[in-house]
Amino acid sequence: MTHTTQRDAARRGIITKELKTVAEYEQMQPEELLALVAKGQVVIPANKNHTCLKPYGIGNQLKTKINVNLGTSKDCLDMEVELAKVMESVRMGAESIMDLSSFGDTRAFRRKLTAECPAIIGTVPIYDAVVYYNKALQEITAQEWIDIVRMHAEDGVDFMTIHCGINQMTASRFKAAKRHTNIVSRGGSIIFAWMELTGNENPFYEQYDEILEICQQYDVTLSLGDACRPGSLEDAGDIPQIEELVTLGELTKRAWEKNVQVIIEGPGHMPLNQIQANMEIQQTICKGAPFYVLGPLVTDVAPGYDHITAAIGGAVAAMYGASFLCYVTPAEHLRLPTLEDVKEGIMASKIAAHAADVAKGIKGAKDWDYKMSEARRELDWEKQFELAMDGEKARRYREESLPEKEDTCTMCGKMCAMRNVNKILRGEYVDIMD
Ligand code: SF4
Repeated sequence: MTHTTQRDAARRGIITKELKTVAEYEQMQPEELLALVAKGQVVIPANKNHTCLKPYGIGNQLKTKINVNLGTSKDCLDMEVELAKVMESVRMGAESIMDLSSFGDTRAFRRKLTAECPAIIGTVPIYDAVVYYNKALQEITAQEWIDIVRMHAEDGVDFMTIHCGINQMTASRFKAAKRHTNIVSRGGSIIFAWMELTGNENPFYEQYDEILEICQQYDVTLSLGDACRPGSLEDAGDIPQIEELVTLGELTKRAWEKNVQVIIEGPGHMPLNQIQANMEIQQTICKGAPFYVLGPLVTDVAPGYDHITAAIGGAVAAMYGASFLCYVTPAEHLRLPTLEDVKEGIMASKIAAHAADVAKGIKGAKDWDYKMSEARRELDWEKQFELAMDGEKARRYREESLPEKEDTCTMCGKMCAMRNVNKILRGEYVDIMD
């Protein structure tokens, strides 16, 4: 029996090799996962042309996954350097890479990625269209926007951000709302500008059926973009954000009817006390389709530390329903991230994802913490480095300040609680002045 997409296969009861791999990784029975994919609550982004893919599932009953944004730009055009960043990100645990290339031969880089990188590959075709056509925005035709989507699908991209939720209705509500920080989504701002300049409906909304046919043909997962995501705490949960979310809910239903897999993109900037409600509203409106959040950044006032503001929000968001976290680096709002910024962003995101997995009771999550705390109690430093999320950093920190007594650290030295209580419980003498 043949199938078009992973969703189509699941609805027909076919266990694909990708689903089998994901079920093993998540410690689930394939049948249990199959039911979630069939309902749209889990997606397995796996373009038929991305042959070196190591598939992952995305859904809030699975381990929380993270995405890293990379790609060539005017200031960083060296493909090999960018590819090295990609591979380092995968080594550090990123399950997904979004190629946001905006300069040079973007197609060559994209094809290199889908030929060599095992992570899930995502793109934002709007960005690429601007580079590819290299002409005034209003001169890009509706069909040309769609053609870029087809090109990315052919190139093996597993998921694409398509800004189809900002139609003329949402745009008029946005203009009436007079938001504090307007539109902060790059793709959203481009398509909004195109709509204003041409007076036409958003082609991604108007020709949505053609996009669905492309996604069905290659099994591209649609990531429904949030052009109106709040760019400040002031705009969180406002009318344009919710208006667009309602449209995304309708578009989710239409995609599911064609067996296209869907994830929904979300905020943005949001105060901590609004995150739970926001996750629940999305799950209700989009019928449990996986939620992919950028942050949310829980305060606007910490440029240089936005990997932390985003990790706080990401942990809470994932605990209450988000499935996929887009990393944020310390360079957010300031400049293009360096490799060091990328690493900081990945670690912050991985911590947020794991903290949420522990809180949600995801299989195996808490066992990791149990083993680490056991190694800590036993003062087994090698085991601690092996288990650490960033073992290299943990080892470097310890080696920078070695203790007088091998079995402690320089934090408390002879007053090491772990060492002394272990000794007392073993009936040994403890002299903290020794
Ligand atoms: S010295 Fe203090 S911080 Fe270091 S291992 Fe012992 S109890 Fe922990």
